[in-house]
Amino acid sequence: MTTAPAIIIPTDISAMVREIETTYASFLENFRIPSDHVIVVNYSGGKDSTATLAIAHHLFGDKVQNVMADTDNEHEYTIEYAKNIHTQVGCRPVQLVKRIYSAADFARRRAYMKKNWSKKQAIRMGAYRGVVMPSLGRADTAFGQAWLKTAKRWGIDFETALDAALSVMHPSGNSFLDAALLHGKFPMLRDRFCTDELKIQIAYDAAIRPMLDEGEVVVQWSGVRGDESSKRAGYDRFAVDMRDEGYLFNFLPIHQWTAADVFALHRYFGIKPNPLYLQGASRVGCMNCVLCNKEEISETAARWPEHIEKHRQWEMKVRLASRWVHWMSTGTVSQAWVNSIIGFREITNRRGETVKVRRLLGDVPRLYGLDTEVQHLDWSGFYGPRGGMGAPSVTEVVEWARTGRGGKVYDLVKASLNTATCSSRYGLCE
Ligand code: SF4
Repeated sequence: MTTAPAIIIPTDISAMVREIETTYASFLENFRIPSDHVIVVNYSGGKDSTATLAIAHHLFGDKVQNVMADTDNEHEYTIEYAKNIHTQVGCRPVQLVKRIYSAADFARRRAYMKKNWSKKQAIRMGAYRGVVMPSLGRADTAFGQAWLKTAKRWGIDFETALDAALSVMHPSGNSFLDAALLHGKFPMLRDRFCTDELKIQIAYDAAIRPMLDEGEVVVQWSGVRGDESSKRAGYDRFAVDMRDEGYLFNFLPIHQWTAADVFALHRYFGIKPNPLYLQGASRVGCMNCVLCNKEEISETAARWPEHIEKHRQWEMKVRLASRWVHWMSTGTVSQAWVNSIIGFREITNRRGETVKVRRLLGDVPRLYGLDTEVQHLDWSGFYGPRGGMGAPSVTEVVEWARTGRGGKVYDLVKASLNTATCSSRYGLCE
């Protein structure tokens, strides 16, 4: 259940905006930033960046530029909202930028795969350390023959796993999918290449760097709020950006604000929030984010199933681009067995107890001869490991997300979610 306030408490928005004005002025003085610097608002179509954009425009007018990086995994309402926000605020239109992966990017990846996926490879880290993985480019090996069963299960017709992988290694027309294909997996918590490549880098390359190259001093305003996470709470409100020290700075005007403050500001300026909030979304942006929680997954499945279907289609392609999934697709027993047998071995110690010790390099079965029985993995899943499943598909994740705590009991409330009813968590329905 949400802990967000159901009622928006009246806030003195004008005093809070004045605080931002005063604090910003003192930062400019302390950091010796010229008064003719450029302000760039990092826009996302969400409530926090909309509040930031409105405040920046209110204080500095057309000096402010607004940039949004479209990841190609956004909800269409969010893109529409971003394209039209200037008509509500009176600011300059948002500049939409997008990272495009070229045919040359894919050609480089294909060349790498042809060269390296044809070779056997010894795994050097993790529970599979020392296991020799087979070539993916040969049909005349035990693995190559076993993989043909994978191809049949997946409903594809290729001679080798490498051929299947090369077939999807071309620009798809969607930047998020292209990034996943080139990385051979979807982004995850510790490897969030979507944020790095599809948001931060492209906003810098397409919008900010050209200004810096012209000799401008740029301050980026971002709608980061400290109460969203302890990590965000730890950010400095004003900081030098080391990508161009002395010329590029970051400012977090609403760092101390609550979600209720943000919506109060929308009302204060007469701005309608992104319509997704009125339809039950607790956050907008990628639909969905790879890191979103169980509740958001079930909410999306109920309200915007077309986005679940989009991810299902993407998974069909991305698994073909994953070397690991091809290797693990030929197993037959359980993944837990792999951890207990390949990663560890059991020995009897001096006290007569049976204990597990990690195997040493070379002291392991060889997958190459396919004498190892392991559970087959079929997916490099969009949502990563969820609900105790190592590599579930989006369909399996949605089923799990529809269940109650512990993933066992089907939650009747969620199952009967009325998609016609507004369930905004911020008390926006009046
Ligand atoms: S919202 Fe999530 S999926 Fe989208 S770019 Fe950020 S981390 Fe990646």
